[in-house]
Amino acid sequence: MIRTNHKIEYSPEKCVGCKLCYKACFVDVIRWDEENKRPVFKYISDCEHCFLCQAVCAKEAIRVIPDYSSEHMHQNFSQYA
Ligand code: SF4
Ligand code: SF4
Repeated sequence: MIRTNHKIEYSPEKCVGCKLCYKACFVDVIRWDEENKRPVFKYISDCEHCFLCQAVCAKEAIRVIPDYSSEHMHQNFSQYA
């Protein structure tokens, strides 16, 4: 089991509901709340800390804070040997 404690800071007051973060996330972390037109962050432990959601957000409404102490950040190729 991979244990992570990644965090994503989201500022709803800055968000304009453009959906770009939702489209950018290639894993299942960002879902879309159609009713409120805003992203919903689920399964944050699955976040690959690619920073795409943060990068595409022109309103700086998202900040990704990776957990650098987690096991996930210290994987190496020996696991494939
Ligand atoms: S990219 Fe930014 S402004 Fe657009 S929906 Fe996501 S958080 Fe909101
Ligand atoms: S950092 Fe990457 S994987 Fe994590 S929520 Fe943002 S887009 Fe998804």
